Amino acid sequence: MSLIKAALRTLVSLSAASLLVAGGPAVFGDSANGGAGKPVPGIPRARSASAQGSGDVYATRQALYDQMEAATGIPWYRLAAIDQYERTIAKVKASGSHNPDQPAKTARLTAIQIPAPVWCGPLNPDQEDASPSSLSFFGGFGQDGSGDGRADPESDIDVLFSMAQYIRKHSASANDFNIAVWEYYHNGRASQRIEQFSNLYRHFGRLDLSGSAFPLPLGSTYSYRSTWGSGRSWGGARIHEGTDLFTPYGVTVRSTCYGIVETKGWNRYGGWRIGIRDIENRYHYYAHLSGYDKTLKLGDIVAPGQQLGWAGSSGYGKPGTSGKFPPHLHYGIYKDRGLMEWAFDPYPLLRQWENAERKALHSKRSGR
Ligand SMILES: [Zn+2]
Repeated sequence: MSLIKAALRTLVSLSAASLLVAGGPAVFGDSANGGAGKPVPGIPRARSASAQGSGDVYATRQALYDQMEAATGIPWYRLAAIDQYERTIAKVKASGSHNPDQPAKTARLTAIQIPAPVWCGPLNPDQEDASPSSLSFFGGFGQDGSGDGRADPESDIDVLFSMAQYIRKHSASANDFNIAVWEYYHNGRASQRIEQFSNLYRHFGRLDLSGSAFPLPLGSTYSYRSTWGSGRSWGGARIHEGTDLFTPYGVTVRSTCYGIVETKGWNRYGGWRIGIRDIENRYHYYAHLSGYDKTLKLGDIVAPGQQLGWAGSSGYGKPGTSGKFPPHLHYGIYKDRGLMEWAFDPYPLLRQWENAERKALHSKRSGR
């Protein structure tokens, strides 16, 4: 870690610690399983995420993960990855299914939701039990990380601490992290996402991975329009899940986001295609390429604007088939909803990214 980064981290910790009420929570290692056992300053919970800028949220979350790493030895980017995975799934669950009779839960900084039977133990007769010793007796997941004598499933610190302790107990080596995650979720998609997010956070060393770029260089020749849901002229009656950007052969295709290469290779319809997963759990799909940037392989990490390959007209046949339609980039975005993925219309985002990049270029040229 660089000195500057270390100093920033310290500042963040100090500002977080300064928000503590007198005698507030501290994080203690779990001495019962031979934990680190050293008290470290805690982070206040119940700060409303909506009441602060996103920068503050990132900084406060980062401080919380760092404290948890210090207390449990689980690297911050792994805790952050689990938290982010649950956040991206919860957003989907929350939209459309809110019951107005149900009071909104206290805003939390973290998104991990642990079901009561898991938190309290499946045979625990009291499914609102918050006593650490009783939870331990019934084999519950919940532990007290804040040192207030309660194991509260709505406390960011208690939940993260319990998750970190679970991982610590179930992974003897760093490589076992994926196994621990698999045993917790029993969902291959969840394990894959959490591994991807963990790699992204570790690589960039920060939580904010929200940059964007238009998929084609702005100076190149291209045209596209909103065609969401219009019929395919080839390949049958499926709705068209994406936007076609018509552009000459060989124009550079660029990543629109920070992400990790999830798929690469031939697809009967997509031709030479590449798929990038971003930290919001969106899958960006680029199809009909004429070729790939040779340095890219599965699992590689990319940044907005980075070259992925070149536009072409591959697809609709066996590997190598090309020229059955005019060259274009087919660009699609899919959102992971936990068990399946849904396409959504990329057109508004493409316009937004194009405008943002044009403005940035313009202000650079005009000398700020
Ligand atoms: Zn298309």
